[in-house]
Amino acid sequence: MRIDVISAVPKILRSPLRESIIKRAQAKKLVRIYVHDLRKYAEGKYRQVDDKPFGGGGGMVLKPEPMFKCIEKLLSKRKYDEVIYLTPQGVKLNQRKANKLSLSENIILICGHYKGVDQRVIDKFVTMELSIGDYVLTGGETAALVVIDALIRLVPGVLGNSESALSDSFQTESKFDAPVYTRPAEFEGMKVPDVLLKGNHKEIKEWRHKQGLKKYRKVKK
Ligand code: SAM
Repeated sequence: MRIDVISAVPKILRSPLRESIIKRAQAKKLVRIYVHDLRKYAEGKYRQVDDKPFGGGGGMVLKPEPMFKCIEKLLSKRKYDEVIYLTPQGVKLNQRKANKLSLSENIILICGHYKGVDQRVIDKFVTMELSIGDYVLTGGETAALVVIDALIRLVPGVLGNSESALSDSFQTESKFDAPVYTRPAEFEGMKVPDVLLKGNHKEIKEWRHKQGLKKYRKVKK
C-alpha cells in the first residue's frame, strides 16, 4: 500500500511516522508513506500556501494552485483508489471503512489547515471526504495520522500476529475486545481471572466474548 499525504505543515507528520509499528511497516516495505510539503509547490518569494477568504471572515484558506500542482503530479504517475480530503464534514471513519480502505493500493490524503482548502480542489480531485469525528481539529495532519494508523495495522504482515487485529474491538461479534492481562498473575492483591490461567481455549474464547459484549452494552447504552 502506498499513501501520499499532502500537508502545509509536514513537520507534524514526520515524527509519528518514524515510530513503532508504522516505522516497522515501512521498513518491511509493506507500506510506503510519502509526505509532500505543500510549500514546495507554491510560487513566489515567500512560497505562500494560504490566502484570505473571499467574502471576508476570519481564518486563512489553503490556495488552490499548490494543491493542484501536487495532486496533478501524483495522478500523472499512478492510479489512486481514493483521493481523500480529511474534513470534519466528511463521512465518519469507522472500522468497516478502515477495513475497506486498507485494501487500497494507492491513496492520497489531503490535510487542510486554518479555515480549510479552497473548494475547487475538492470539486476537481477529491473522491472521498473523511472525518475522524464530530469535532474540529486545527489541521488535517493529526486526522491523517489516525487514518494511516487505522489502515496500516490491517495490512497483512504489519502486525506480528494478524489474529490480534481480528480480535480487536469492532472486528468481533461481541463488538469490544476483552480485557487483557499479563504477568504477574497477582498484583497488589488483584488477580488475573482464573479462566485465563487454565489454558482451556474454548472457555477462554467464551469468556472473552462475554466480557467484550458486557462492556460494549455498558458503554453504548
Ligand atoms: N472550517 C472547517 C469547518 O468548519 O468544517 C474546519 C477547518 S479545520 C480548523 C482545519 C482542517 O483540519 C480541515 O480543513 C481538515 O483538514 C482538518 N480537520 C479538522 N477537524 C477534522 C476532523 N474531525 N476530521 C478530519 N479532518 C479534520
